[in-house]
Amino acid sequence: MDLSDISTVRRIMSMYGLRFRKEFGQNFLTDGSVVEQIADSCSSDPACTVLEIGPGIGTLTRALASRFASVVALEIDEHLLPVLQFTLADFDNVTVHHADVLKTDLHELLQPCFERGKVAVCANLPYYITSPILMYLLESRLPFESVTVMVQKEVADRICAMPGTKDYGAITPVIDYYASAQKLIRVPSDRFLPAPKVDSAVVRLTLRSDADRPCHPRSEEKFFKTIRAAFGQRRKTLVNALSAGFPDLSKEQIREAVVSLGLDPEIRGERLSVALFSDLSDRLG
Ligand code: SAM
Repeated sequence: MDLSDISTVRRIMSMYGLRFRKEFGQNFLTDGSVVEQIADSCSSDPACTVLEIGPGIGTLTRALASRFASVVALEIDEHLLPVLQFTLADFDNVTVHHADVLKTDLHELLQPCFERGKVAVCANLPYYITSPILMYLLESRLPFESVTVMVQKEVADRICAMPGTKDYGAITPVIDYYASAQKLIRVPSDRFLPAPKVDSAVVRLTLRSDADRPCHPRSEEKFFKTIRAAFGQRRKTLVNALSAGFPDLSKEQIREAVVSLGLDPEIRGERLSVALFSDLSDRLG
């Protein structure tokens, strides 16, 4: 069964009387070689478990199930469950749950999988909630081996951006804190059904252990607050943006903290690496 074949996708959707649900970000992948590449990049350990978010009609799921010991898939759209029962019938190592990933207790769900070995995440993510899902996975602190995801090309550019470039945003240092990111392939919009308006890219995040983090802020809460504040007012200088985010501190105190790091007081937040954000948060207040 080749689920990446466009006429097969259309036939299955009409067989089950389904439409592509925009509200769930349903753009199904129709390029078999991209499906294989994503599954290949997911892990080098065939004994691992893969958590797939949004299996759709099971295209990537089949590629994962044929490579890895087991697949746990979470699908929000109940109409796709009978389809998945049909398309995955020849695999006994896939468990599909009808669930919203953001409302799922991943610790509870995956505990038996972590007890058996490594767990990786793989997904063609629904575009409307890419960042919340990535943050949910990373903030869970679960020791995933990796997170390999298809995202909008612009999001991939942001995740992998260098400080001082136009793509560098709040999500860049935050992701850098949790993981090292690598852009793998670019995927044109016509490789999906229906085709989205923008191109996509596959990104692989290799999660860092606590010891491997690029910095160790004294307070993580203040560190993340500093980043949020710095990018909350992007056209302002760092000092002005932080003044708005830290109303309890005087502008002079913030300026002193910035200058004490050897930085120009007129610098903008997008020039700071994750390590500098950490140092700065340590010196604020
Ligand atoms: N994996 C399939 C593929 O590559 O063709 C489908 C990918 S499609 C871009 C995103 C999938 O995520 C859809 O099946 C959609 O119903 C599902 N989805 C959307 N929001 C979700 C959520 N919060 N939790 C779980 N699945 C979700």
